[in-house]
Amino acid sequence: MANSKFEYVKDFEQPDVLLPNTWIVVRIDGRGFHKLSDHYAFEKPNDRRALDLMNAAAAEVMKDLPDLCIAYGVSDEFSFVFHPNSQLFERRSAKLVTTIVSTFTAYYIYLWSSYFPSSPLKPPYLPSFDGRAVIYPSSRILRDYMSWRQVDCHINNLYNTTFWTMVLQGKMSNTDAEQELKGTVSSDKNEILFKRFGINYNNEEEIYKKGSVLYRQYELQDPKPSSVSVEDETSPSIPEAQQSRSQQDRMKKLRRKAKVVIDHVDIIKDEFWARRPWIISGSVGKLPVQS
Ligand code: ATP
Ligand code: ATP
Ligand code: MG
Ligand code: MG
Repeated sequence: MANSKFEYVKDFEQPDVLLPNTWIVVRIDGRGFHKLSDHYAFEKPNDRRALDLMNAAAAEVMKDLPDLCIAYGVSDEFSFVFHPNSQLFERRSAKLVTTIVSTFTAYYIYLWSSYFPSSPLKPPYLPSFDGRAVIYPSSRILRDYMSWRQVDCHINNLYNTTFWTMVLQGKMSNTDAEQELKGTVSSDKNEILFKRFGINYNNEEEIYKKGSVLYRQYELQDPKPSSVSVEDETSPSIPEAQQSRSQQDRMKKLRRKAKVVIDHVDIIKDEFWARRPWIISGSVGKLPVQS
């Protein structure tokens, strides 16, 4: 490699390697999507096309990066989760975040016209995303992170559904609706929807109430009633750093064979994780029989 007198500038680079054996969550969020959604006339409170486009872009990111074991999306955000075993980019934070953000944005823009055929993208309203990486030291805390995002989805969606029903169906002004909703709890909002508009919130679409969870599909397993906990912190799988290169490559190949599915289900309770043990364990399951 050429060695010049300018090489010393390399020493200014700060190391940003994320702690070993921790879950890495890269969360990305659309920049200024409030304005962007107005400009392209997203339906309120939930534009299905926009959510499907987010999910399609996220599915491509999952396919591109087999080290990702699960992703969760709501509104203009997506959380991508790397298993503690992952050694991608030597776990360098900036590399992981920028790769996810740019791959996601590239697909979001590439796929835009399939979801919004009559609203072509035009500057200055071009979609872009920010991102950050956060590490979590245990699968319990990783699950609490995922639960936090899904609870957030529920709270926001109940508020937005009630607000927009009051505005669009109840012909209220934005300020009046906002004023009336101030200080209300969930049951108040459910009651406004049901008593005034005959809407049972439970019957709203799952994608709006639960958000979207993406993972690799293998045969579902029967949850073992005897198992106290889904995660088994006492027997961690061999860190991939200790696995040989060829073992790591083999796992990557196996993961690429699995289909990435998009689900709208509860990820707070144990059941989701118990039936899909490969997500937490970082292993691969049995591929479903092709029909
Ligand atoms: P920032 O750049 O700080 O993230 P933002 O304008 O993107 O600002 P967020 O808090 O991220 O604000 O909220 C995203 C906004 O995008 C929502 O409040 C909503 O107005 C809009 N939005 C995103 N997805 C949809 C969708 N599927 N349907 C309708 N509106 C959406
Ligand atoms: P990584 O994903 O790790 O960044 P990389 O393949 O992108 O890997 P870089 O170290 O970023 O590798 O180097 C970029 C390479 O891309 C250069 O070595 C060169 O081969 C090629 N390249 C970039 N720009 C040009 C260009 N304008 N013309 C020809 N080749 C280019
Ligand atoms: Mg945003
Ligand atoms: Mg957001």
